[in-house]
Amino acid sequence: MSIAAFLLVLVFFRSVSAEERFFLETVEVFRVKRPQAEIKSSGKLRNDMPAENLKIFQKTVNRQAMSFPETLFLEGKSEGRKVALTFDDGPDSWATDRILDILASYEVKATFFIVGVNAEFYGQRVRKMKNSGHAVAGHSFNHTDFRELTPERMFKEQIEPVNRLLLKLTGDAPDFFRPPYGVVTDEQIRYTAGKKMRMVNWSVDSFDWDDQYNGVSEIIARVMQYAHPGAIILLHCGGRANNNTVLALPELIQRLKDEKYSFATVPEMLNVGAQH
Ligand SMILES: [Zn+2]
Repeated sequence: MSIAAFLLVLVFFRSVSAEERFFLETVEVFRVKRPQAEIKSSGKLRNDMPAENLKIFQKTVNRQAMSFPETLFLEGKSEGRKVALTFDDGPDSWATDRILDILASYEVKATFFIVGVNAEFYGQRVRKMKNSGHAVAGHSFNHTDFRELTPERMFKEQIEPVNRLLLKLTGDAPDFFRPPYGVVTDEQIRYTAGKKMRMVNWSVDSFDWDDQYNGVSEIIARVMQYAHPGAIILLHCGGRANNNTVLALPELIQRLKDEKYSFATVPEMLNVGAQH
């Protein structure tokens, strides 16, 4: 390699942020071409993405949903005008209680994808979710990137411990989960299918996790722009930035109701259950 080419490569790598590399490393080529009729689509992530790394993520997850329609779900069926609100990363000490209060006052049932370490600390809030009629499923034990684990370790360290905890706290061990960041390898999807479990991501990202660019009005506008029958909507109730989520939620629910949407939990939407 000439020195000029070497410098060019160096400049390229320096211009890619750590976060972009995180997603660039996940790019996989869709090698298997199947006839259209055999593909039973599990939907797609519908947002326009603001950054290249997110476009790559979107392409990967849409390709995986097409390739594994029985195992990876991004949205529900479009019959009926239903959407599913989903809240990741809780329970926490602040947003979770407020979100539960708002959902109760609007009589809306939602789905919580909880993180094991948080559930160990705030078990009472997990019980409250379940007792209020919401669906609760796992979102890893400690929010690690699953792609760094073998499928076996993913189940042993990140999925089974959370399901055991949920069984203890709520009496149910769900047969579906959501991977952190929505990222997994194809091998992990196949392994999950072998375990008779499913992964559930989302078709509409509220971007409430990105509080640098998104306030209350942006969260509401984005969800309303992309809402569709069968939508699974990504929101958060743990980690940072969730006061915007709390502030946006009442108007968001009202606007969805005004547009004649009703609300389903993920198990209702996808017909997945708590039984193994
Ligand atoms: Zn998360």
